[in-house]
Amino acid sequence: MARILTGIQSTGTPHLGNILGAILPAIENAKAKENDSFLFIADLHSLTQIKNPEELRANTYSVAAAWLAFGLDTDKTVFYRQSDVPQCAELAWYLNCFFPYQRLKLAHSFKDKSNRLEDVNAGLFIYPMLMAADILLYDANLVPVGKDQLQHLEMARDVAARVNHKFENVFIVPEPLVRKDSMLIPGTDGEKMSKSKHNTIDIFQDQNSLKKIINKNIITDNIPLEEPKDPNGSTIFKLYQQIASKDQANEMAEQLKKGGYGWGHAKKELLNILNEQFDAPREKFNYFMNNKKELDTILESGAQKAKAVASETLNRVRNAIGY
Ligand code: ATP
Ligand code: MG
Repeated sequence: MARILTGIQSTGTPHLGNILGAILPAIENAKAKENDSFLFIADLHSLTQIKNPEELRANTYSVAAAWLAFGLDTDKTVFYRQSDVPQCAELAWYLNCFFPYQRLKLAHSFKDKSNRLEDVNAGLFIYPMLMAADILLYDANLVPVGKDQLQHLEMARDVAARVNHKFENVFIVPEPLVRKDSMLIPGTDGEKMSKSKHNTIDIFQDQNSLKKIINKNIITDNIPLEEPKDPNGSTIFKLYQQIASKDQANEMAEQLKKGGYGWGHAKKELLNILNEQFDAPREKFNYFMNNKKELDTILESGAQKAKAVASETLNRVRNAIGY
């Protein structure tokens, strides 16, 4: 049995790209009987960038509500808020003291972020050690990562090996599970959908707002209605294809190629299928957003389970170090 641990950024309400590319596949994987999964909202990491308490709290709630809206099974997955487990910050400190400063300076992501962001604080610099603590605290065997996070996982393995070398078998050394990132959901401008590019489709908005996003924001060419169109050059079709059945997608492709079928038609079909697929999760999302106490209860119960594991690991570490 492998323990899989996944952290989710809490930088805003998840959009269609996050849902199709990350949330749904992770929920599917968590169903596998042979695995034991830990999933946490990385709100300590968020503090490197978010200094507004309301925003920090609101982001955690909307991320939690989104995962639950898509049916995350919290009996099977330990689902918790990173900040509810203070053991994580404690372990991060110990790890900081076992990792060479010079190696931390080699992190690509810090270089990239320090060029881009205004608030370049020390937390941003030691981020890889907090990430290592997230993983090592729970004896995780496997960590799904994108290519951009691979170096951070190497650092987690490295610091675990350093501590193990000094004190013997304190940590389980985690393995990366490199995501293929095969699914790339385009945004309204045809580029990869990302919060930071402001090209997102937010399916948790009400039907009217969603209609506006689809009708106004998705860019199309101006080939006249009667003429044939290339489905694969179209963002509308690419999005439709990811959500509709194969038959439905083939039908739209045929209509576009035949001509006499305009982008307006295609947008209407896209909107219909979005509503069809996402009305129910949206309702659940809204329910949780209106019942935050329930979200707190769910997250606290996850934190209790997480803390039980965390305390054991931390005892091992404290004993080894000499506390
Ligand atoms: P940012 O603009 O801050 O990078 P984002 O919108 O790209 O934000 P992330 O927090 O980077 O979102 O990604 C969260 C998860 O969603 C990751 O697993 C990522 O691979 C996935 N994801 C994000 N955008 C897409 C997309 N357009 N298509 C498929 N998966 C995506
Ligand atoms: Mg991104």
